[in-house]
Amino acid sequence: MSLKATKQFCDLVIQPRWLIPVVPENVVLEQHAIVISKDKIVDIGSVEKIQQHYNAREWINAPEHALIPGLVNAHTHAAMTLMRGLADDLPLMTWLTEHIWPSESRWVSPEFVRDGVELAIAEQLLAGITTMNDMYFYPNVAAETAKRMGMRASIGAVVIEFPSAWAQTPSEYLSKCETLLQSYQSDALIRITLAPHAPYTVSDDSFRAVQALSEKFGAMINCHVHETAQEVSDSVKQCGERPIARLNRLGLIHERLCAVHMTQLEDHEIALCAERGVHIAHCPESNLKLASGFCRVDALLQAGVNVALGTDGCASNNDLDLLGEMKTAALLAKAVANDAKALPASKALFAATMGGAKAAGWGDSIGSLEIGKQADLTMLNFAGIDSLPVFNPVSHIVYANHRRQVSDVWVAGNARVRDGRLVDVDVAELRGKALAWTEKLGAQGE
Ligand SMILES: [Zn+2]
Repeated sequence: MSLKATKQFCDLVIQPRWLIPVVPENVVLEQHAIVISKDKIVDIGSVEKIQQHYNAREWINAPEHALIPGLVNAHTHAAMTLMRGLADDLPLMTWLTEHIWPSESRWVSPEFVRDGVELAIAEQLLAGITTMNDMYFYPNVAAETAKRMGMRASIGAVVIEFPSAWAQTPSEYLSKCETLLQSYQSDALIRITLAPHAPYTVSDDSFRAVQALSEKFGAMINCHVHETAQEVSDSVKQCGERPIARLNRLGLIHERLCAVHMTQLEDHEIALCAERGVHIAHCPESNLKLASGFCRVDALLQAGVNVALGTDGCASNNDLDLLGEMKTAALLAKAVANDAKALPASKALFAATMGGAKAAGWGDSIGSLEIGKQADLTMLNFAGIDSLPVFNPVSHIVYANHRRQVSDVWVAGNARVRDGRLVDVDVAELRGKALAWTEKLGAQGE
């Protein structure tokens, strides 16, 4: 039998200069290629071996590129991209109560969410983000939009005590969450999570109901927790306990909780999160911009807590750039720990990929380049003079990169970005919608 006859057909082989699987950590493969069939990674091996064994429908030779797992944005409010730069340079509660919540009560609608999520998905795909862990009103619209645009997403169905256009009462939020959980139970790209907004906007009863739904469906819970010192001191005044203690009393401190921000942590709270397997979505740029406080990333990692990275919404960042977030996180961790070894480049990349995958409830199928996982891939071009020389591509990805260097992106084996351009997205139409919303939101208060 000839060698040729033994070759297997596959859809795609990518042969990058550097292949960075993330798992195992601290490995950079050269002279290697990755094989994709349909939505999955089916092989990774030496170029020689892959050439011998596969007939590829497409073979991409990328001699100046690094291939990494698709980035996972572990916390965002995609629709709020339409509020980019609407109110800057304000502390959290002023920003929320005087600007964001009034705008939301006036404008949030299915159309607002659809157009905002489309814009956010376009921006994130171009930045190498293949999965977002979202939280907002009209999660049904966000889920449909992400599915239509071929982006993987965990969509958080918000629970909050306030009425909104999406639901009037906590029980209406909860019943809409349950309906969504039922409808997306076996979707390939979309998972629904429960998103109680924050301890200061959700009652004990609502938290208990969220916990019951999480148990029934095995669904992740996303909640802003310990975002600011004021949140913690207000909670102590009002109910005599810190928010983490309250969530623990209500049974929510466990491995299906993704706690967002966590800037105010005492040692015993870090130990509790480690023991229970809580995931933390660290959003350093949002925390810096709102002067919310500093997350003790180094202490969390040393305790064994899974730390993921999120951009938060565009209204408090003001971009959806996880490469930039990695650099900020790595630099800030060193300042907070007073230790240059804190959050080294390899750990920052892990947080932005595998850490995020676990926090978003996809740890079994994305976050690393491993055989059997989904083909969610991001390729970066290091040919430009601002990338040269390259001694260590992981160092470049964290410290010397920019999202414009993202050349190609695949989600579940489907090309979403090729040569720096979005695939199947009408950019002119997106621009038109964003400009129309700028007029409406900008006219507010005039
Ligand atoms: Zn947030």
